[in-house]
Amino acid sequence: MTKRSVEAVLAPPAPHMVGDGFRVHNFFPGGYNMEQDRLSPFFMLDYNAPVDFGPREEPRGVGVHPHRGFETVTFAFQGSVAHHDSAGHSGVINAGDVQWMTAGSGVLHKEYHEREFSRKGGVFHMAQLWVNLPAKHKMEAPRYQGIKRDEMAQVQLPDGKSEVRVVAGSLFGVTGPAKTWSPVIAAVLDLTAGGEARFNLPASYNSVVLVVKGAASVNGHDAPTDNLVVFRNDGEEVVVTSSIGATLLVLSGEPLNEPIAAYGPFVMNTYDEIKQAFADVSAGKFGVLED
Ligand code: MN
Repeated sequence: MTKRSVEAVLAPPAPHMVGDGFRVHNFFPGGYNMEQDRLSPFFMLDYNAPVDFGPREEPRGVGVHPHRGFETVTFAFQGSVAHHDSAGHSGVINAGDVQWMTAGSGVLHKEYHEREFSRKGGVFHMAQLWVNLPAKHKMEAPRYQGIKRDEMAQVQLPDGKSEVRVVAGSLFGVTGPAKTWSPVIAAVLDLTAGGEARFNLPASYNSVVLVVKGAASVNGHDAPTDNLVVFRNDGEEVVVTSSIGATLLVLSGEPLNEPIAAYGPFVMNTYDEIKQAFADVSAGKFGVLED
């Protein structure tokens, strides 16, 4: 196996609000003006670094809005998020859980801080990843997978100090529970002080590692808290070490190699399909969801 080289270690760009409940750093595609297909099948990564929003009776969040053509995947590190959509799915994810929603042919959804969490207030920390769908699966029926932390494939690593929880795809010899529409690996790696993790990601897969807690060395590069490590596609092996301990989100996927036409909440292959998405929302084809 050849070691993957690191293309960049990206600091979090200036944050912006999504609704009033998510204060996010957009790493891609906009944050660093990456090509829209640079990390395909991943289209977008919004990272809500830890923020204490304080208590509020009426939960903060983002109101009813549509999506078509991709998946929204939310990783909760601290705090709780509630989801409702027009396909009739709803769920709450708490620290350590993941929500993997296939918008497919189209949903209206809303994403809010969970009511009790909002009342108490506290630190909110999560990431939302948009996973693009292959053209042949863009119009699949919407699907919702709420994946609890203890449902993930968990492995203790040979260093005796680290643990991995695999959400999707295979890593460290285990396979995560998430169903995906193209080959994707998603995993959370927890290293305690002095921990080391070695793993391989297929060279052709676009791959990143987000440091959500602590600090690490990733293939010899310093990776501080809240930074995103972007790999080149020139090898497989990744070696992560941490002197102080770290939690990292590992994302790797086979590129779709299809044209991208993206506008607002839609990710399609052509701009005619974007126009059609707007027309279908207006015509009520995405269903109904109360605010
Ligand atoms: Mn959304």
